[in-house]
Amino acid sequence: MRLEIATDITERKQMELELRAAHEKARAAALEDELTGLHNRRAFFEFGEQLLNQSARHQTPLTLVMMDLDHFKIINDTYGHQAGDEVLKQVSGLLKARIRDCDIVARMGGEEFAILLPDTDMTMAHVLASRLLALLCNLVVSYEKSRISPSASIGISSLGNGDRRLEDLMCRADEAMYQSKAKGRSRVTLAT
Ligand code: GH3
Ligand code: MG
Ligand code: MG
Repeated sequence: MRLEIATDITERKQMELELRAAHEKARAAALEDELTGLHNRRAFFEFGEQLLNQSARHQTPLTLVMMDLDHFKIINDTYGHQAGDEVLKQVSGLLKARIRDCDIVARMGGEEFAILLPDTDMTMAHVLASRLLALLCNLVVSYEKSRISPSASIGISSLGNGDRRLEDLMCRADEAMYQSKAKGRSRVTLAT
């Protein structure tokens, strides 16, 4: 009898553990971009708000780099959607390999990426973004018989005293990114 109760408790504990593991797995999946394995938009805001609060509290710099691939529709139309997917994966790999553990890189949707850089001012972010852009332009993605060279337009903003939310930073970085598009693409623009 006592043995049965003990087995019951062990089984219940085991079930609880399994349930918790399944829950953790589901939560991790909900924060990950399926195609690239980067953080998704939701994760970006969840973790990014924490970085923003820390930076505001400690009065340390924080910059946001927004990057949108250029003429991506043409890449899809010319080489096919799967080739486009391959470009997205390789660009993601490149970004991930080039940032620090403390940075956040996310695929915000489509062919748009965000990189949040703590303890990094505008000058440092500009250097990093220019380097990333150069690497990206040198990237040659092989897909079946095609060789595809992507490029991107980038906008950078930095945390100001009046910023309370990530959206404030994002709005200015997006504006700067659209200026990069308007000026001819494949370039970096700093938000004022
Ligand atoms: P621009 O230089 O102005 O940014 O031009 P663009 O063609 O990159 O921008 P546009 O917004 O016109 O097109 C984005 C394209 O990205 C259209 C959409 O089909 C494609 N896209 C979005 N998500 C994915 C995806 O997961 N995989 C692939 N292959 N394509 C995607
Ligand atoms: Mg684009
Ligand atoms: Mg876009």
